Amino acid sequence: MSNTSSLDVITSLCKRRGFIFHSSEIYGGINGFWDYGPTGCEMKRNIKEDWWKTTVRNREDVAGLDATIIMHPSIWRASGHLDTFSDPMSTCKACKKLMRADQIWDILADGEIGQSLQAELDAGTDAGKIAGWCKGKAKGLAPNLAAVQNPLVLTAAFEKIKADPASCGSLQALYKLLANANKEVEDEVVTPCPYCGGELTDPRPFNLMFKTVVGPVDDPANVAYLRPETAQAIFAQFPNVLSTSRQTVPFGIAQMGKSFRNEVTPRNYTFRSREFEQMELEFFIRPDEAVELICGRVTTMADNPDLSTPQNAWGWEVWHKYWVERRKQWIQSCGLPKDSFVEYWQKPEELAHYARACVDIQYSFPFGVQELEGIAARSDFDLTQHQKHSGKSMEVFDEPLKLAANALGEAGKAAFMEKVTAEWAARGKDAEAARAFVAKLFDGKYVPHVIEPSAGVDRMMLALLCNAYEEQKLTDEKGKEDVRVVMHFSPRIAPVKVAVFPLVKNKPELYGKAREMFEHLRRRYAAFWDESGAIGRRYRRQDEIGTPWCVTVDFQTLEDGTVTVRDRDTMLQERLTLEQLKAKIDDALLV
Ligand code: ATP
Repeated sequence: MSNTSSLDVITSLCKRRGFIFHSSEIYGGINGFWDYGPTGCEMKRNIKEDWWKTTVRNREDVAGLDATIIMHPSIWRASGHLDTFSDPMSTCKACKKLMRADQIWDILADGEIGQSLQAELDAGTDAGKIAGWCKGKAKGLAPNLAAVQNPLVLTAAFEKIKADPASCGSLQALYKLLANANKEVEDEVVTPCPYCGGELTDPRPFNLMFKTVVGPVDDPANVAYLRPETAQAIFAQFPNVLSTSRQTVPFGIAQMGKSFRNEVTPRNYTFRSREFEQMELEFFIRPDEAVELICGRVTTMADNPDLSTPQNAWGWEVWHKYWVERRKQWIQSCGLPKDSFVEYWQKPEELAHYARACVDIQYSFPFGVQELEGIAARSDFDLTQHQKHSGKSMEVFDEPLKLAANALGEAGKAAFMEKVTAEWAARGKDAEAARAFVAKLFDGKYVPHVIEPSAGVDRMMLALLCNAYEEQKLTDEKGKEDVRVVMHFSPRIAPVKVAVFPLVKNKPELYGKAREMFEHLRRRYAAFWDESGAIGRRYRRQDEIGTPWCVTVDFQTLEDGTVTVRDRDTMLQERLTLEQLKAKIDDALLV
């Protein structure tokens, strides 16, 4: 639906219409932090409530959790975040700016230097023109670039471009050349800063967790962290939720809330923020070996299973695919068309060592195709880590498993033990560990495996904003042209569901009726009252915040109780009674 490729247009609408503001704006803002305004916070709430309803309330096999943001620091030791949750960071030796080393070329392309240099490239890679750029514009844009500072480097670059323009035909190749043209030895080649052209340090790992101190004493022993994801609390509270929720594996625990990452270079509006919200589900399943014992065989994707209703015999692969499909359905039901996002299956070499599969759902944002959310099959890694570090058991007792193992008899058990040991050996795993694992299975015990659909509220909201935006060229009856900006949100997500307008302000009976209807509607739905300006202008204001229905109370309302209901997308009007209108809205909002 979107007919814009510009993030600027979305940013400006969001500011104008109260969706998103820069945090602490009156003090110049703070990088990577965003506030949601009157319309934005309603919309964000709708996304979260929709997710909660779909993931928790509408399912019998998922329980909720609302854990603290600051937790025992050992959680982050066990999860691996203290040791490995880092991004490579480089610093510019000249301008001192810090940046993610894996984003340097994106920062260059998006920035003023990149755009200016790209314009030269687009005109054809010409040595003379590039030299002109170095002597002119680059003095202001990239003053620390070697070719700008040092005539010998510029001459060397000029010769190289002249000799082989194709070799520096890309922005990255050309920018690198302008910093290194005088170097013959590969070891001496440096990466230039995308902000000023200076030399960057080699990348160093930078831990993304925000630190704080718990209690009055500012001592290293009291250091704690703001959670970088909501998931770990779910693992840490697994035994409590299991014992109080009357759930048995397979089942899930869901949580949503704030997460914090000290992103080195927050960028692309709210896409990469330092404070954001996540909606995460940890869905615990039996290890495939337990499924095999209980059901005799494990269903895999090769069996082409029907994914509509979970089955006992499903192995991890089918559960994973099931959640990928569920998540795609939800994304679509929120209003993102099927063709606006893709599934990216991580390649084996990209997977974390414990992960069996990971799918990123990627959306075509105006700044490129980027991750909206991920669905990972994480084996029993997380619970096992917490079991190891806390000394508390994360095992479950699974009665059907114990019964199935008993039914095998001694010979059957020995054969099963041998089979599993061989399978683990084929995956490079230790025979002793395999035997201990199977012995536990025979007792009906195991540490559950997990499928993790992990979504970002802010990214979903940004995708919905980008998708909903449309500028429509309209011509009125008198032939006058106009542009209508309209946000085509799904009614479930729209910040305001219905706006109520009295046709005129100065007729007490009509005004009173309109107020009465508004009061009635606002008890059920997010409703907006607007009595100022021509009706057409009131429609346009609502179009810009994506209100699906505008209701005008007019003189006919006083006679027969009907109102004019104007549809945001078609702009068509119909007369409905209040009951008919409520039925229409209810139908569209049903999750
Ligand atoms: P990326 O590779 O984009 O940094 P990630 O793979 O680190 O993301 P996860 O750790 O899997 O992300 O987090 C799950 C989800 O949380 C992401 O898919 C995204 O929707 C959201 N998310 C993660 N980091 C941020 C951030 N800095 N700002 C906004 N949302 C985020």
